[in-house]
Amino acid sequence: MNLLKNKINAEGVVLSETVLKVDSFLNHQVDPELMLEIGKEFAHRFKDQGITKVLTIESSGIAPGVMAALHMNVPLVFARKKKSLTLSEGVLTSKVYSFTKQEENTISISKTYIKENDRVLLIDDFLANGQAALGLIDLVKQAGAEVAGIGIVIEKSFQNGGKLVRETGYRVESLAEIQSLENGKVRFKQEKVHA
Ligand code: 5GP
Repeated sequence: MNLLKNKINAEGVVLSETVLKVDSFLNHQVDPELMLEIGKEFAHRFKDQGITKVLTIESSGIAPGVMAALHMNVPLVFARKKKSLTLSEGVLTSKVYSFTKQEENTISISKTYIKENDRVLLIDDFLANGQAALGLIDLVKQAGAEVAGIGIVIEKSFQNGGKLVRETGYRVESLAEIQSLENGKVRFKQEKVHA
């Protein structure tokens, strides 16, 4: 997705050989126009999958997730990272090790919002080691629902998450695939052509 790649080239900050900072449009400040286009692209790529819900993790998955949900005309659910006083009964949880924070979080959703007959599109901002995506897959399975696909805004292809998550057999679509962050530069993988 060229719009996204151009934005990464213009505003992304390479913090190290493994971490890209995109606070100006995705992780702190949010560019709504870009998010709208990202949502449209996810909706297009997963249009024939009978999706009934979009599921993401707070907080950075919410902006792209809600725009995908808007274009698919379905609700968005976001998994919480912190215990909520209002989320007490009928809670599904999964443990996720955070790549950027280097700590384990217990993510949770209420059973109320993902049901057995749901076909769920998982959305996240980054795919690094795949732990967040695997945690979301686990929550959907616990709910007895079906994972219909996984949409990632930025995949770092040099980390092992892409391989790990694709091994589950689910379809993974990443809008920008980064091959390397070496020498302070973002290098993208060649893009597949989408009809
Ligand atoms: P994973 O679970 O795949 O290892 O990591 C995914 C999560 O870590 C994403 O939800 C994202 O918040 C965070 N993350 C991983 N790599 C990066 C990165 O290079 N930059 C930023 N800003 N966040 C990242």
